[in-house]
Amino acid sequence: MPEIMEEPVSKFVKIRCPKCKNEQIMYGKASSEVRCLVCGKDLAEPTGGKAKIKARVLEVLE
Ligand SMILES: [Zn+2]
Repeated sequence: MPEIMEEPVSKFVKIRCPKCKNEQIMYGKASSEVRCLVCGKDLAEPTGGKAKIKARVLEVLE
């Protein structure tokens, strides 16, 4: 099955902030808000298990 990039489960993903282009790693099932480490923009929000990612997913890490 192909990966569903918008809803990664139990994996770390590399995302890029749409505002400042900072790249950082986050957990796909983050249970709290994820903010950009550089500019503070919220990049993902928890939605009962899976994180809804609002940034561009560059890579899913195994
Ligand atoms: Zn940023």
